[in-house]
Amino acid sequence: MIKSIERIIPPPAAHMVGDGFRVHNFFPGQFDIRRMSPFFLVDYGSKIEFNPSPQPRGVGVHPHRGFETVTLAYYGKVAHHDSWGNSGVIEEGGVQWMTAGSGVLHKEYHEKEFSKKGGMFQMVQLWVNLPSKNKMTTPAYQGFTRDELSKFELPDDGGTVEVVAGNYNGVKGPATTFSPLHLYNIRLNKQGKVTVQFPKDYNTGIIIIEGEVKVNDSIARTDHFILFKNDGEEINIEATEKAVLLVMSGEPINEPIVPYGPFLMNTKEEIMQAYDDFNKGKFGTLED
Ligand code: MN
Repeated sequence: MIKSIERIIPPPAAHMVGDGFRVHNFFPGQFDIRRMSPFFLVDYGSKIEFNPSPQPRGVGVHPHRGFETVTLAYYGKVAHHDSWGNSGVIEEGGVQWMTAGSGVLHKEYHEKEFSKKGGMFQMVQLWVNLPSKNKMTTPAYQGFTRDELSKFELPDDGGTVEVVAGNYNGVKGPATTFSPLHLYNIRLNKQGKVTVQFPKDYNTGIIIIEGEVKVNDSIARTDHFILFKNDGEEINIEATEKAVLLVMSGEPINEPIVPYGPFLMNTKEEIMQAYDDFNKGKFGTLED
């Protein structure tokens, strides 16, 4: 059975996160907050040219609790550091999987050398919810360069499926997750074809990062988000031109969600607890 398209969503008006990230927020906001669970949020930074800047642009110190942020860089480089002494750079094609868990303070900004030179920038940040039993897990990082992602080469020189998490045709991605989900970058050559299959109940979406593709029988263009129905398993994709797709699919976490600013919990009391812990310095310290 085909997993059919529910909606193809054009990029919403962009807004700035700090001065470094110009993003289109595909969700939450366009549909029920649990519609794409375990994915709670997608901020999509479409291509933008940044002028050189001696001071790296970005977003200052802020907390997170109760979920994971997954950041993918397509053009440009993103750097970060946090209150527990972790730091790193997400290179082009790379992925950072940060488990905020019980709480981190962090800063996200353009990498220093990229910032000095300026140039094309394109990125995605996903917020992946954590099941209630894992919300207070110890904060952790997983970082992967493009080379470190698992690869499945498509037949007939169709392109490559880069598996970040979950698996594609038996190829398992390097990231470990707290609930079952799949995350792929699919890089298709012109006329390249790929079929992906996910269980019917898995919430599924695709961001067209680059190019134009025919998905089932519909055409979808750059910077659009495709939301799928939960009516089948199979999605057939063909690139009408060279294309890059970010594919996400996951088993819904059937628990209440109470989002508030940078926190994602199950109850209002847990949100109040998060603010209380934050104010008491339990997220560590980080200078601006
Ligand atoms: Mn953040």
